[in-house]
Amino acid sequence: MSQQFDVVVIGSGPAGYVAAIRCAQLGFNTACVEQWLSPDHKPVYGGTCLNVGCIPSKALLDTSHKFHEMQHRFDAHGIRVERGAIDVAAMMARKNQVVGQLTKGVAGLFRSNKVTGISGRGRLLGRGRVEVTATDGERQEINATHVILASGSEPMTIPPTPVDNDLIVDSSGALEFDAVPEKLGVIGAGVIGLELGSVWSRLGSKVTILEALDDFLPALDRKMARESLKILVRQGLDIQLGARVAGSRINRRRKHPVTVSYRNAEGDREASFDKLIVAVGRRPVSGDLADPAAGLAVDERGFVEVDEFCAANLADVYAVGDLVRGPMLAHKGMEEGVMVAERLAGKKTQVNYDLVPAVIYTHPEIAWAGKTEDEMKQAGVETITGNFAFAASGRALAAHDTDGMVKLVVEKASDRIVGCQVIGASAADLLQQMVIAMEFGASAEDIALTMFPHPALSEVVHESALAVHGHAIHKANRKRQEPAP
Ligand code: FAD
Ligand code: AMP
Repeated sequence: MSQQFDVVVIGSGPAGYVAAIRCAQLGFNTACVEQWLSPDHKPVYGGTCLNVGCIPSKALLDTSHKFHEMQHRFDAHGIRVERGAIDVAAMMARKNQVVGQLTKGVAGLFRSNKVTGISGRGRLLGRGRVEVTATDGERQEINATHVILASGSEPMTIPPTPVDNDLIVDSSGALEFDAVPEKLGVIGAGVIGLELGSVWSRLGSKVTILEALDDFLPALDRKMARESLKILVRQGLDIQLGARVAGSRINRRRKHPVTVSYRNAEGDREASFDKLIVAVGRRPVSGDLADPAAGLAVDERGFVEVDEFCAANLADVYAVGDLVRGPMLAHKGMEEGVMVAERLAGKKTQVNYDLVPAVIYTHPEIAWAGKTEDEMKQAGVETITGNFAFAASGRALAAHDTDGMVKLVVEKASDRIVGCQVIGASAADLLQQMVIAMEFGASAEDIALTMFPHPALSEVVHESALAVHGHAIHKANRKRQEPAP
């Protein structure tokens, strides 16, 4: 007899495991099917995010930041140290320990919430029917009233630079180098390329990032993108825009064995590296997710088609996370997982897709949410903005960490905050204050009248709200003072 559940989730990344836990909390008998295995063949939960994404990249970013601070910035504090050395094996062991602790944590949460973890590859056969193929090839069918698809995404590749997982790697390989490459090439100046490029640059690599587009971080406010580029270039990243990679060759006898050919405005160019990271984006994992007879609708890029509530075209089938439209971010998938679970329980939960925060964990961090000034202009809505630089923050100066600024975008007629962009130390956490403000429909005046602790980095957010109406205290206001409406 096949096993029967209320809900079966396929995939245990942040979208899938959160959906499974929330379903179980709401009283559904829930199973989660996951194919990921550890090197010693144990089922591992947590997906891309915990195993090869958000968490290991942040572990390496934090280690490399400390190393870089020690080498280049302790001196300013009067701390005299020898140059020091990085023990790459120890850094990787710590990263793996963090990953292991968190993936085991998900397994523990499954146990405490009574989610049944099933190891194997899941495939939707039809309404309420999922086939699970174990690693030994054995197949079983399990049944559920509702199926939630959460198979996530995988790195994209491009024909000119085939990944060999040795000299040419994807983002997963870039988290596993056993030594600091002397010269490192990165294709793609997106979030992943910038974060991984920063890790190895801080540890001593000479890093070149080749980006096909002429614009840097096109989703970001233009002024903030220019400011970010300036800071990252000053840190030593060689970011070449308008550079489209067209080919590569490997010659292991050469000092720098990977040669990349690319074309920029000046013509055809070549550059040689010890390692090359291909970070050109990710694509959804939907290839063998459903039997064609099931009739699951998938768009031309491989995303499962869903409505605003993540319902697929088949009754009782839902899809969440990187597998569906929208930004490929862990928290976006988590919120979708919660929404689907709660709607199954009859609640009216929604995801506010207008307020998905995005963060690049370089140092300083780059974070944004809501609308940019340009987007508001294009929509024909008049805005006022408030800027404030970290250089004028007492706390930032005390910490010797003064790069960056806050920009607040406010609808002129209503004074409502509609967007916020932050470059700076702890930008992700500072931005979140404005995400909450925007969720609550706060005005710039609301924030201006709120008391902030002194001295705290969050004062830059307060001052940017004051600056909207020309009232910032700790800078000369160029804008004529105007009363809040
Ligand atoms: P995934 O995490 O990809 O999980 C899908 C799971 O489904 C996997 O475990 C997979 O094995 C399993 N699966 C697939 N098919 C099947 C099947 N047929 N049967 C059973 N199991 C299956 N996002 C952020 O928000 N912040 C960050 O800082 C951040 N940093 C990142 C850094 C890197 C280097 C990378 C690569 C990504 C980063 N991301 C970050 C993106 C983030 O990892 C993804 O958005 C997130 O993991 C997507 O979650 P998901 O649950 O949709 O899919
Ligand atoms: P993201 O999708 O944010 O991870 O960023 C991936 C980046 O890779 C995008 O900015 C693309 O423009 C860039 N990219 C894709 N293909 C190439 C290529 N052949 N050469 C250089 N950059 C590329």
